[in-house]
Amino acid sequence: MELSLGKRDYARYPFLKEAGELVRLLDLSLYDVTKFLKILDRAKERILQAFKRGKIEQELEDSEDELLSFSLALFLVKAINNEFAIKRYSLAEALRVEAFLNEEFSNNNISIIIYLFKRLFKIEIREFHKDEEFFFEIPFKDYLIRATKFHDESWKLINRPLYHGYVRLKAKDLIRLIREEIALMIEERIKLLKLAKFPEKLKEIVNDLKQKAPHPTLWIGRGEVKDYPPCVKHALKELEEGRNLPHYGRFLLASYMLAIGKGVDEIVGLFSKAPDFKEKITRYQIEHIAGLKGGGTKYRVPSCKTLAEHNFCFKTEECNNIRNPFQFGRKNE
Ligand code: SF4
Repeated sequence: MELSLGKRDYARYPFLKEAGELVRLLDLSLYDVTKFLKILDRAKERILQAFKRGKIEQELEDSEDELLSFSLALFLVKAINNEFAIKRYSLAEALRVEAFLNEEFSNNNISIIIYLFKRLFKIEIREFHKDEEFFFEIPFKDYLIRATKFHDESWKLINRPLYHGYVRLKAKDLIRLIREEIALMIEERIKLLKLAKFPEKLKEIVNDLKQKAPHPTLWIGRGEVKDYPPCVKHALKELEEGRNLPHYGRFLLASYMLAIGKGVDEIVGLFSKAPDFKEKITRYQIEHIAGLKGGGTKYRVPSCKTLAEHNFCFKTEECNNIRNPFQFGRKNE
C-alpha cells in the first residue's frame, strides 16, 4: 500500500527512507548545516532532552528544520561516542514516535499506522471493528516475537484474544509493541554512520554534550567502594553456587553494579551461572533498570528498609546504620 506522505510526516518519522531521500535532496553538508542556527539548536535540544528526561518533545514548528535536526543529532550522538548516550537518545526518539502514533490514532489517521508497520517491520496489521470498539489485528507470529520481551502478565498470549491467526489489540498496546524496535533501528543507524571531518562549531557542541552525556552510573556518591555490602555479597554467592535469586536480589545486584559504574555486559556475566539464565532477558532487564529500555526511567539501588521487607537484608555490624547498600564502605560518608 502506498501512502502519500508530506514533510510533516517525515518530521514525525524521520527514519523513513523517503525522509532520508528528502534530506539528501537538500544536499547540505555538515559545514552548511552549521550556518542554520535553528537546526543546530534543535539538534542539541533533542539530545539534551533525551539525556535529561529520557523523552523528546513533539515539536513540529518547521518540518524541514525538524527533519534536518534529527539527521544532525544522529551525527552529534555518534561523535559523543558513549554507548549509554546512544541507547538513551535512541529510546527517547522511539518514545517520541510512539507519542505521535498515539496521536495519529486519536485523530483517526489509521492508514499511516498500518503503513508504518508494513514499511518499517513488514508487519501486515489490519483494522477490526466490533460494535463501537476499534481494534487492530496483528499476525500471531509477529505478536509473539515482540510480546515475549514483556514481563507483564497482560502480554502473555493466554491473556490475548486470538482470532484465525491474528491477535486483537487496542491501539495503544499495538503501538507499544514496536517501541524497542524503533529504538534499535535508530541505534543501528547511529552506529553505522561514518564520521567525516567535523566543523569546529560542531566539535564545540559535541564537547559540551559529552559533559552532559549520561554515564552508566546511576547514583554516584562521594568516595570509592572498598567492599561490597553483605546483601550484594550474598547475591553474588548465590549465583556463584548456581542458585536462582529472588526478584529483589536480582534488582539489588543489577542496580548496585550499575550504580558503581559496571557495564551492562559485565553485569549480564554475573547472572550467567543462574539455573534459569537467559542472556536476552537478563540483558533486557538490566538495560531497563539502567533506563535504556522501557519508559526510560533509571532505577536507584533499593533502600535497606525495602530489602529488609523483602527478606534480602543480611545485616552485619559493618552496615553501621546505613540506609542504602550504596553507602556501604564508602570513604567520607
Ligand atoms: S543493612 Fe543494607 S547494606 Fe547491610 S545487608 Fe542490609 S540491605 Fe544490605
